[in-house]
Amino acid sequence: MSQPIIYQNYINGVFESSQQHLEVFNPSNQRLVSQVPASTAADVERALDAARAAQKGWAAKPAVERGAFLHRLANKLRDNVAHLARTITEEQGKVLGLAEVEVNFTADYLDYMAEWGRRIEGEIIQSDRPKENIFLFRKPLGVVAGILPWNFPFFLIARKMAPALITGNTIVIKPSEETPNNCFEFARLLNEIGLPKGVFNVVSGTGAETGNALTASQQVDMISFTGSVETGSRIMANAASNITKLNLELGGKAPSIVLDDADLELAVNAIRSSRIINTGQVCNCAERVYVQRGVADEFIARIANAMEATRYGDPLVDRDVEMGPMINRAGLDKVAAMVETARRNGAELITGGSIADLGKGFHYQPTVLTSCRQDMEIMRKEIFGPVLPIQIIDSLDEAITLANDCEYGLTSSIYTRNLGHAMQACRELDFGETYINRENFEAMQGFHAGVRKSGIGGADGKHGLYEYTHSHVVYLEG
Ligand code: NAD
Repeated sequence: MSQPIIYQNYINGVFESSQQHLEVFNPSNQRLVSQVPASTAADVERALDAARAAQKGWAAKPAVERGAFLHRLANKLRDNVAHLARTITEEQGKVLGLAEVEVNFTADYLDYMAEWGRRIEGEIIQSDRPKENIFLFRKPLGVVAGILPWNFPFFLIARKMAPALITGNTIVIKPSEETPNNCFEFARLLNEIGLPKGVFNVVSGTGAETGNALTASQQVDMISFTGSVETGSRIMANAASNITKLNLELGGKAPSIVLDDADLELAVNAIRSSRIINTGQVCNCAERVYVQRGVADEFIARIANAMEATRYGDPLVDRDVEMGPMINRAGLDKVAAMVETARRNGAELITGGSIADLGKGFHYQPTVLTSCRQDMEIMRKEIFGPVLPIQIIDSLDEAITLANDCEYGLTSSIYTRNLGHAMQACRELDFGETYINRENFEAMQGFHAGVRKSGIGGADGKHGLYEYTHSHVVYLEG
């Protein structure tokens, strides 16, 4: 058996050894993959010191020069897709094809953000005075703390560091303790592009120690966090004492509405893949379906067949599987308990419904539940697994009311061939994103943001970029 890899924190352009370690396991077989630093508050402060010391010099470079580093890094990633994808799959469990998409998408994202180098703009505002100009500059915030989840761990590094760096900030990243390896591989490649030391730093560790130290530090000018609502709330409390700027990308409970006039084949394929991709562990994917009575039987039969036909297993053993394991035992047990509770409360199991007997992997069967009701936990709380609860509705008005009746407000979708229905959904669905007749997957030039408990602020595109700046208004008279 191969020895676990030992990773080191990346602080001020140097990989450093640490006193204490965490272990990282492969969720397909529970084998030990690596040891990573369990960073202390002192490690975090040193990383923040490095980021602080580097920031002014970094911001003084023309943005197009900062962008050149991101382009160089994108090319490095593309030269190493196979290795990076394997690293992601080994610690996170997604299928290799999806891990390759994640790496390539990350490279494209770096290029996209680099291209803003010549496009970041301020404003000249009309003055009330005859000899005055009012200028609005966009300036970097300073030092950003980026805290990552485990579900798209590689892409999330770029989603935070690329807009932060192109606008002149420096960053300290804390990856999830479940999936830190890919972040250290990212740092290893970044270390080869000649980025000034201190601009990008990585400290791994638990949320309770490392994440807490990072978000409580007075040295941080902005916290960019992606993860659960519970952690987001704790981070807000930490940020409160220093009034630190927050960007929170939290959970979702995306409704999918399927009307009588929908293209059913499209709806079945898109919703099924939404529950299978990344083993249902995606913040923006369909978490509950409201199907109109006229097509309900056919939709349920077809989606149950499609879910049942899903091939799952260890993605590093069989490249053809469509779905890997869940991230860990806790995630698996949570999904199993939610399905049991739903069944006890009257939901009908159409397919799946059990932990799969596949050696030591954390596999759950692709599952469809019908006769679900809005008051059930499974229709209200994030499942984050390959389970699809379905409720039958009689009208679009009813579906929209139920969809909006939710503590989350990240994404939503509707399948209909009727333009009037589609437009009503645009007007009345109270979410950050709505997908009409297509799968749930955002574009890098869009703006990924949720309402209610799904977060504060957002990512991607122009609006996501400007989250990493503050305005500085100058009044020049004379
Ligand atoms: P999590 O909240 O458990 O952990 C996320 C990160 O926060 C980890 O790095 C963790 O170590 C850290 N953390 C934990 N406690 C902390 C504390 N007290 N202080 C500072 N940091 C702390 O989330 P997860 O299980 O890694 O990710 C799954 C969640 O992320 C889901 O709810 C999912 O919907 C959400 N998510 C949202 C988006 C989005 O764009 N809105 C994208 C991906 C994932």
